[in-house]
Amino acid sequence: MTQRIVMPGLMEIGAGALDKVADMLKLLSCRQPLIISDRVMSELGYVRRVEIALAAVGLECGVFLDTEPEPTEASILPAVDQVVTGQFDCLIALGGGSAIDSAKAIGLLAQHGGQMRDYKVPHVVTEAILPVIAIPTTAGTGSEVTRVTIITDQDTDEKMLCMGPGLIPQAAIIDYELTLSVPARIAADTGIDALTHAIEAYVSAKAGVYSDQQALSAMRLIAPNLREAVNTPGNHDAKEKLMLGATLAGIAFSNASVALVHGMSRPIGAHFHVPHGMSNAMLLPAITEFSIPASLTRYADCARAMGLADDIVSDEEAVQRLMSELTQLNADLQVPAMSDFGIDRHQYHELLDTMAEQALASGSPNNNPRIPSKN
Ligand code: NAD
Repeated sequence: MTQRIVMPGLMEIGAGALDKVADMLKLLSCRQPLIISDRVMSELGYVRRVEIALAAVGLECGVFLDTEPEPTEASILPAVDQVVTGQFDCLIALGGGSAIDSAKAIGLLAQHGGQMRDYKVPHVVTEAILPVIAIPTTAGTGSEVTRVTIITDQDTDEKMLCMGPGLIPQAAIIDYELTLSVPARIAADTGIDALTHAIEAYVSAKAGVYSDQQALSAMRLIAPNLREAVNTPGNHDAKEKLMLGATLAGIAFSNASVALVHGMSRPIGAHFHVPHGMSNAMLLPAITEFSIPASLTRYADCARAMGLADDIVSDEEAVQRLMSELTQLNADLQVPAMSDFGIDRHQYHELLDTMAEQALASGSPNNNPRIPSKN
Protein backbone atom coordinates (compact mmCIF):
# COMPACT_ATOMS: atom_id res chain seq x y z
CA MET A 1 0.00 0.00 0.00
CA THR A 2 1.33 3.45 -0.81
CA GLN A 3 0.83 6.70 1.09
CA ARG A 4 0.46 9.99 -0.79
CA ILE A 5 2.18 12.83 1.09
CA VAL A 6 1.29 16.50 0.69
CA MET A 7 2.76 19.45 2.60
CA PRO A 8 3.88 23.00 1.85
CA GLY A 9 6.58 23.23 -0.81
CA LEU A 10 8.46 25.86 1.16
CA MET A 11 9.16 26.04 4.91
CA GLU A 12 11.40 28.42 6.88
CA ILE A 13 12.03 26.95 10.33
CA GLY A 14 13.81 28.35 13.38
CA ALA A 15 14.31 31.40 15.60
CA GLY A 16 13.86 34.61 13.62
CA ALA A 17 12.22 32.87 10.64
CA LEU A 18 9.49 35.56 10.69
CA ASP A 19 12.02 38.03 9.30
CA LYS A 20 12.20 35.96 6.10
CA VAL A 21 8.58 36.69 5.18
CA ALA A 22 9.51 39.01 2.28
CA ASP A 23 11.87 36.35 0.86
CA MET A 24 9.06 33.83 0.96
CA LEU A 25 6.74 36.15 -0.98
CA LYS A 26 9.43 36.69 -3.58
CA LEU A 27 9.94 32.93 -3.99
CA LEU A 28 6.19 32.58 -4.55
CA SER A 29 6.14 35.56 -6.98
CA CYS A 30 3.56 37.30 -4.76
CA ARG A 31 3.54 41.10 -4.30
CA GLN A 32 0.22 42.12 -2.76
CA PRO A 33 -0.54 40.22 0.44
CA LEU A 34 -3.45 40.55 2.82
CA ILE A 35 -2.46 39.71 6.40
CA ILE A 36 -5.12 37.58 8.14
CA SER A 37 -4.65 37.85 11.88
CA ASP A 38 -6.24 39.01 15.13
CA ARG A 39 -6.00 41.88 17.60
CA VAL A 40 -3.80 39.93 20.03
CA MET A 41 -1.18 39.51 17.29
CA SER A 42 -1.44 43.21 16.56
CA GLU A 43 -1.00 44.18 20.23
CA LEU A 44 2.00 41.88 20.55
CA GLY A 45 3.64 43.74 17.62
CA TYR A 46 3.79 40.67 15.36
CA VAL A 47 1.63 42.22 12.63
CA ARG A 48 3.82 45.33 12.63
CA ARG A 49 6.95 43.16 12.26
CA VAL A 50 5.51 41.63 9.10
CA GLU A 51 4.52 45.06 7.77
CA ILE A 52 8.04 46.39 8.40
CA ALA A 53 9.70 43.38 6.75
CA LEU A 54 7.51 43.85 3.67
CA ALA A 55 7.96 47.64 3.56
CA ALA A 56 11.75 47.12 3.60
CA VAL A 57 11.47 45.57 0.12
CA GLY A 58 8.86 48.04 -1.11
CA LEU A 59 5.79 45.83 -0.60
CA GLU A 60 2.51 47.14 0.79
CA CYS A 61 -0.11 44.93 2.36
CA GLY A 62 -3.69 44.95 3.59
CA VAL A 63 -4.59 43.84 7.10
CA PHE A 64 -7.64 41.97 8.42
CA LEU A 65 -7.58 41.64 12.21
CA ASP A 66 -11.07 40.31 12.93
CA THR A 67 -10.48 36.57 12.91
CA GLU A 68 -12.03 34.81 15.89
CA PRO A 69 -10.88 31.83 17.96
CA GLU A 70 -12.62 28.68 16.65
CA PRO A 71 -13.76 30.68 13.59
CA THR A 72 -17.34 30.81 12.36
CA GLU A 73 -18.21 31.30 8.70
CA ALA A 74 -19.76 34.68 9.57
CA SER A 75 -16.47 35.87 11.04
CA ILE A 76 -14.53 35.34 7.80
CA LEU A 77 -17.00 36.80 5.31
CA PRO A 78 -15.83 40.44 5.65
CA ALA A 79 -12.31 39.29 4.71
CA VAL A 80 -13.70 37.38 1.71
CA ASP A 81 -15.27 40.68 0.54
CA GLN A 82 -11.98 42.48 1.16
CA VAL A 83 -10.15 39.98 -1.08
CA VAL A 84 -12.81 39.97 -3.79
CA THR A 85 -12.90 43.78 -4.03
CA GLY A 86 -9.14 44.25 -3.54
CA GLN A 87 -6.13 43.29 -5.64
CA PHE A 88 -4.50 40.80 -3.27
CA ASP A 89 -2.48 37.95 -4.73
CA CYS A 90 -1.83 36.01 -1.50
CA LEU A 91 -2.76 35.75 2.18
CA ILE A 92 -0.34 35.85 5.10
CA ALA A 93 -1.98 33.93 7.95
CA LEU A 94 -0.46 35.07 11.24
CA GLY A 95 -1.77 33.52 14.45
CA GLY A 96 -2.92 30.26 15.98
CA GLY A 97 -4.87 27.58 14.15
CA SER A 98 -7.91 29.86 14.09
CA ALA A 99 -6.20 32.58 12.01
CA ILE A 100 -4.62 30.00 9.69
CA ASP A 101 -7.88 28.09 9.22
CA SER A 102 -9.66 31.40 8.60
CA ALA A 103 -7.12 32.32 5.90
CA LYS A 104 -7.55 28.96 4.15
CA ALA A 105 -11.32 29.38 4.12
CA ILE A 106 -11.06 33.01 2.97
CA GLY A 107 -8.71 31.94 0.16
CA LEU A 108 -11.17 29.23 -0.87
CA LEU A 109 -14.38 31.30 -0.83
CA ALA A 110 -12.71 34.32 -2.48
CA GLN A 111 -11.55 32.17 -5.41
CA HIS A 112 -14.48 29.80 -5.81
CA GLY A 113 -17.54 31.32 -4.08
CA GLY A 114 -20.28 29.35 -2.36
CA GLN A 115 -20.50 28.53 1.34
CA MET A 116 -18.16 26.49 3.53
CA ARG A 117 -20.91 23.85 3.77
CA ASP A 118 -20.33 23.15 0.05
CA TYR A 119 -16.74 22.13 0.80
CA LYS A 120 -17.10 20.00 3.95
CA VAL A 121 -16.30 16.28 3.90
CA PRO A 122 -17.01 14.14 1.91
CA HIS A 123 -16.15 16.90 -0.62
CA VAL A 124 -12.40 16.87 -1.33
CA VAL A 125 -10.97 20.36 -1.78
CA THR A 126 -8.83 20.03 -4.90
CA GLU A 127 -9.67 23.60 -5.96
CA ALA A 128 -6.59 25.85 -5.98
CA ILE A 129 -7.05 28.60 -3.40
CA LEU A 130 -5.35 31.99 -3.13
CA PRO A 131 -1.78 31.19 -1.94
CA VAL A 132 -1.48 31.13 1.86
CA ILE A 133 1.78 31.75 3.73
CA ALA A 134 1.08 30.36 7.19
CA ILE A 135 2.88 31.69 10.27
CA PRO A 136 1.74 29.79 13.39
CA THR A 137 2.00 31.49 16.78
CA THR A 138 0.83 28.49 18.82
CA ALA A 139 2.59 25.12 19.00
CA GLY A 140 -0.46 23.00 18.45
CA THR A 141 -2.71 22.61 15.46
CA GLY A 142 -0.12 22.09 12.73
CA SER A 143 -2.53 23.93 10.41
CA GLU A 144 0.50 25.53 8.74
CA VAL A 145 1.24 22.16 7.08
CA THR A 146 -2.18 20.50 6.90
CA ARG A 147 -4.79 20.01 4.18
CA VAL A 148 -7.49 20.89 6.66
CA THR A 149 -9.61 23.84 7.71
CA ILE A 150 -12.32 23.75 10.37
CA ILE A 151 -15.02 26.40 10.24
CA THR A 152 -18.12 26.50 12.45
CA ASP A 153 -21.58 27.03 10.98
CA GLN A 154 -22.91 29.63 13.42
CA ASP A 155 -26.54 28.66 12.68
CA THR A 156 -26.22 24.96 13.47
CA ASP A 157 -23.18 24.97 15.78
CA GLU A 158 -21.51 22.43 13.53
CA LYS A 159 -17.72 22.47 13.27
CA MET A 160 -17.38 21.71 9.56
CA LEU A 161 -14.31 19.70 8.60
CA CYS A 162 -13.04 20.64 5.14
CA MET A 163 -10.13 18.71 3.67
CA GLY A 164 -8.15 18.36 0.50
CA PRO A 165 -4.78 19.16 -1.05
CA GLY A 166 -6.06 22.55 -2.22
CA LEU A 167 -5.99 23.71 1.42
CA ILE A 168 -2.25 23.13 1.94
CA PRO A 169 -0.48 26.45 2.51
CA GLN A 170 2.04 27.27 -0.21
CA ALA A 171 4.60 28.20 2.44
CA ALA A 172 5.02 28.02 6.21
CA ILE A 173 7.18 30.14 8.49
CA ILE A 174 7.74 28.25 11.72
CA ASP A 175 9.35 30.52 14.29
CA TYR A 176 9.04 29.17 17.84
CA GLU A 177 9.95 32.61 19.27
CA LEU A 178 6.42 33.73 18.39
CA THR A 179 5.11 31.18 20.92
CA LEU A 180 7.07 32.67 23.86
CA SER A 181 4.09 34.98 24.54
CA VAL A 182 1.43 32.23 24.61
CA PRO A 183 -0.42 32.21 27.99
CA ALA A 184 -0.03 28.99 30.02
CA ARG A 185 -3.63 27.77 29.54
CA ILE A 186 -3.39 28.12 25.75
CA ALA A 187 0.10 26.57 25.70
CA ALA A 188 -1.25 23.54 27.60
CA ASP A 189 -4.32 23.09 25.39
CA THR A 190 -2.44 23.53 22.12
CA GLY A 191 0.39 21.26 23.29
CA ILE A 192 -2.01 18.42 24.12
CA ASP A 193 -3.65 19.01 20.74
CA ALA A 194 -0.28 18.38 19.08
CA LEU A 195 0.33 15.25 21.16
CA THR A 196 -3.16 13.99 20.22
CA HIS A 197 -2.39 14.56 16.51
CA ALA A 198 0.77 12.47 16.81
CA ILE A 199 -0.90 9.61 18.69
CA GLU A 200 -4.00 9.53 16.48
CA ALA A 201 -1.93 9.67 13.27
CA TYR A 202 0.14 6.72 14.52
CA VAL A 203 -2.81 4.51 15.47
CA SER A 204 -4.97 5.61 12.51
CA ALA A 205 -6.18 3.05 9.99
CA LYS A 206 -4.61 5.34 7.36
CA ALA A 207 -1.15 5.36 8.97
CA GLY A 208 1.78 4.60 6.68
CA VAL A 209 5.56 4.35 6.82
CA TYR A 210 6.13 8.07 6.22
CA SER A 211 3.52 9.45 8.60
CA ASP A 212 4.62 6.93 11.26
CA GLN A 213 8.10 8.45 11.37
CA GLN A 214 6.70 11.99 11.60
CA ALA A 215 4.30 10.93 14.35
CA LEU A 216 6.94 9.11 16.43
CA SER A 217 9.39 12.01 16.07
CA ALA A 218 6.64 14.39 17.16
CA MET A 219 5.94 12.30 20.29
CA ARG A 220 9.67 12.22 21.11
CA LEU A 221 9.79 16.01 20.92
CA ILE A 222 6.46 16.88 22.56
CA ALA A 223 6.18 14.46 25.50
CA PRO A 224 9.35 15.38 27.43
CA ASN A 225 8.98 19.13 26.78
CA LEU A 226 5.28 19.89 27.15
CA ARG A 227 5.13 20.54 30.91
CA GLU A 228 8.33 22.61 30.82
CA ALA A 229 7.13 24.68 27.83
CA VAL A 230 3.91 25.47 29.69
CA ASN A 231 5.40 26.13 33.13
CA THR A 232 8.55 27.96 32.03
CA PRO A 233 7.53 29.99 29.00
CA GLY A 234 11.04 31.50 28.70
CA ASN A 235 12.63 28.08 28.11
CA HIS A 236 13.62 28.43 24.46
CA ASP A 237 14.79 24.85 24.13
CA ALA A 238 11.45 23.39 25.30
CA LYS A 239 9.47 25.87 23.19
CA GLU A 240 11.50 25.10 20.07
CA LYS A 241 11.06 21.34 20.48
CA LEU A 242 7.33 21.71 21.14
CA MET A 243 6.90 23.85 18.03
CA LEU A 244 8.82 21.43 15.83
CA GLY A 245 6.86 18.53 17.34
CA ALA A 246 3.58 20.28 16.57
CA THR A 247 4.57 20.81 12.94
CA LEU A 248 5.70 17.18 12.53
CA ALA A 249 2.47 16.01 14.16
CA GLY A 250 0.59 18.19 11.64
CA ILE A 251 2.39 16.53 8.72
CA ALA A 252 1.64 13.13 10.27
CA PHE A 253 -2.09 13.59 10.78
CA SER A 254 -2.68 15.57 7.59
CA ASN A 255 -1.44 12.52 5.68
CA ALA A 256 -2.71 9.73 7.95
CA SER A 257 -5.81 11.40 9.38
CA VAL A 258 -6.99 11.85 12.96
CA ALA A 259 -9.42 9.47 14.61
CA LEU A 260 -12.04 9.21 17.35
CA VAL A 261 -10.69 11.85 19.74
CA HIS A 262 -10.98 14.54 17.07
CA GLY A 263 -14.27 13.19 15.77
CA MET A 264 -15.89 13.57 19.21
CA SER A 265 -13.98 16.70 20.16
CA ARG A 266 -15.39 18.87 17.36
CA PRO A 267 -19.06 18.63 18.45
CA ILE A 268 -18.11 19.28 22.09
CA GLY A 269 -16.15 22.34 20.99
CA ALA A 270 -18.92 23.61 18.74
CA HIS A 271 -21.86 23.14 21.14
CA PHE A 272 -20.15 24.13 24.39
CA HIS A 273 -17.42 26.50 23.15
CA VAL A 274 -14.59 24.46 24.57
CA PRO A 275 -11.24 25.39 22.95
CA HIS A 276 -10.16 22.70 20.49
CA GLY A 277 -7.06 21.49 22.33
CA MET A 278 -8.88 21.36 25.66
CA SER A 279 -11.76 19.26 24.31
CA ASN A 280 -9.19 16.84 22.85
CA ALA A 281 -7.44 16.68 26.22
CA MET A 282 -10.75 15.97 28.00
CA LEU A 283 -11.29 12.95 25.73
CA LEU A 284 -7.78 11.58 25.15
CA PRO A 285 -7.42 9.30 28.22
CA ALA A 286 -10.89 7.71 27.94
CA ILE A 287 -10.68 7.17 24.18
CA THR A 288 -7.15 5.77 24.45
CA GLU A 289 -8.42 3.27 27.04
CA PHE A 290 -11.35 2.36 24.73
CA SER A 291 -9.02 1.90 21.72
CA ILE A 292 -6.00 0.10 23.21
CA PRO A 293 -7.46 -3.44 22.91
CA ALA A 294 -7.65 -3.03 19.12
CA SER A 295 -4.06 -1.79 18.73
CA LEU A 296 -1.97 -2.81 21.71
CA THR A 297 1.41 -2.76 19.95
CA ARG A 298 0.91 0.62 18.34
CA TYR A 299 -0.10 2.24 21.64
CA ALA A 300 2.91 0.56 23.28
CA ASP A 301 5.09 2.16 20.57
CA CYS A 302 3.57 5.53 21.54
CA ALA A 303 4.53 4.91 25.19
CA ARG A 304 8.09 4.09 24.14
CA ALA A 305 8.37 7.14 21.86
CA MET A 306 7.14 9.30 24.73
CA GLY A 307 9.96 7.95 26.89
CA LEU A 308 7.60 6.13 29.27
CA ALA A 309 8.77 2.57 28.74
CA ASP A 310 12.50 2.59 28.07
CA ASP A 311 13.17 -0.06 30.71
CA ILE A 312 10.50 -2.64 29.89
CA VAL A 313 9.56 -4.83 26.95
CA SER A 314 5.99 -5.90 27.64
CA ASP A 315 3.38 -4.07 25.53
CA GLU A 316 0.79 -4.52 28.29
CA GLU A 317 2.95 -2.70 30.82
CA ALA A 318 3.87 0.00 28.29
CA VAL A 319 0.21 0.86 27.58
CA GLN A 320 -0.54 0.97 31.31
CA ARG A 321 2.17 3.59 31.64
CA LEU A 322 0.70 5.47 28.66
CA MET A 323 -2.70 5.56 30.37
CA SER A 324 -1.17 6.78 33.64
CA GLU A 325 0.79 9.48 31.84
CA LEU A 326 -2.19 10.81 29.86
CA THR A 327 -4.25 11.03 33.06
CA GLN A 328 -1.39 12.65 34.99
CA LEU A 329 -0.70 15.09 32.15
CA ASN A 330 -4.28 16.35 32.31
CA ALA A 331 -3.98 16.75 36.08
CA ASP A 332 -0.61 18.54 35.87
CA LEU A 333 -1.85 20.87 33.12
CA GLN A 334 -5.12 21.46 34.98
CA VAL A 335 -7.37 20.30 32.17
CA PRO A 336 -10.91 20.63 33.55
CA ALA A 337 -13.43 17.81 33.46
CA MET A 338 -16.45 18.70 31.31
CA SER A 339 -18.54 19.36 34.42
CA ASP A 340 -15.83 21.68 35.81
CA PHE A 341 -15.88 23.58 32.51
CA GLY A 342 -19.53 24.37 33.24
CA ILE A 343 -21.07 22.04 30.68
CA ASP A 344 -24.64 21.50 31.76
CA ARG A 345 -25.32 17.79 32.23
CA HIS A 346 -28.96 17.96 31.04
CA GLN A 347 -28.17 20.00 27.96
CA TYR A 348 -25.31 17.63 27.22
CA HIS A 349 -27.59 14.60 27.38
CA GLU A 350 -30.19 16.26 25.14
CA LEU A 351 -27.51 16.86 22.51
CA LEU A 352 -25.83 13.44 22.68
CA ASP A 353 -27.71 12.09 19.66
CA THR A 354 -26.82 15.08 17.49
CA MET A 355 -23.22 15.11 18.66
CA ALA A 356 -22.79 11.41 17.95
CA GLU A 357 -24.19 11.89 14.43
CA GLN A 358 -21.90 14.86 13.81
CA ALA A 359 -18.89 12.94 15.11
CA LEU A 360 -19.59 9.96 12.84
CA ALA A 361 -20.38 12.14 9.81
CA SER A 362 -16.92 13.72 9.94
CA GLY A 363 -15.42 10.33 9.02
CA SER A 364 -12.64 10.60 11.65
CA PRO A 365 -14.02 7.81 13.91
CA ASN A 366 -13.69 5.33 11.03
CA ASN A 367 -9.92 5.74 11.22
CA ASN A 368 -9.86 4.72 14.87
CA PRO A 369 -8.30 1.34 15.65
CA ARG A 370 -11.54 0.40 17.42
CA ILE A 371 -14.48 1.75 15.42
CA PRO A 372 -17.33 2.96 17.60
CA SER A 373 -21.05 2.59 16.94
CA LYS A 374 -23.39 5.51 17.48
CA ASN A 375 -24.45 3.97 20.78
P1 NAD B 1 -6.37 29.85 18.50
O1 NAD B 1 -5.78 30.13 17.18
O2 NAD B 1 -7.86 29.79 18.60
O3 NAD B 1 -5.80 30.89 19.55
C1 NAD B 1 -6.31 30.92 20.88
C2 NAD B 1 -6.00 32.28 21.48
O4 NAD B 1 -4.60 32.40 21.65
C3 NAD B 1 -6.43 33.46 20.61
O5 NAD B 1 -7.04 34.41 21.41
C4 NAD B 1 -5.11 33.99 20.06
O6 NAD B 1 -5.15 35.38 19.81
C5 NAD B 1 -4.16 33.66 21.18
N1 NAD B 1 -2.78 33.49 20.74
C6 NAD B 1 -2.34 32.80 19.66
N2 NAD B 1 -1.01 32.87 19.59
C7 NAD B 1 -0.58 33.62 20.62
C8 NAD B 1 0.70 34.07 21.05
N3 NAD B 1 1.82 33.73 20.41
N4 NAD B 1 0.77 34.86 22.14
C9 NAD B 1 -0.36 35.18 22.82
N5 NAD B 1 -1.60 34.81 22.47
C10 NAD B 1 -1.70 34.02 21.37
O7 NAD B 1 -5.79 28.46 19.10
P2 NAD B 1 -5.26 27.18 18.35
O8 NAD B 1 -5.42 26.05 19.29
O9 NAD B 1 -3.93 27.42 17.76
O10 NAD B 1 -6.27 26.97 17.13
C11 NAD B 1 -7.52 26.38 17.35
C12 NAD B 1 -8.27 26.27 16.04
O11 NAD B 1 -7.53 25.46 15.12
C13 NAD B 1 -9.63 25.62 16.20
O12 NAD B 1 -10.59 26.30 15.44
C14 NAD B 1 -9.41 24.21 15.69
O13 NAD B 1 -10.60 23.62 15.21
C15 NAD B 1 -8.41 24.45 14.59
N6 NAD B 1 -7.57 23.32 14.20
C16 NAD B 1 -7.20 23.24 12.90
C17 NAD B 1 -6.41 22.21 12.47
C18 NAD B 1 -6.01 22.13 11.02
O14 NAD B 1 -5.30 21.22 10.61
N7 NAD B 1 -6.43 23.05 10.19
C19 NAD B 1 -5.96 21.22 13.35
C20 NAD B 1 -6.35 21.32 14.69
C21 NAD B 1 -7.15 22.39 15.11
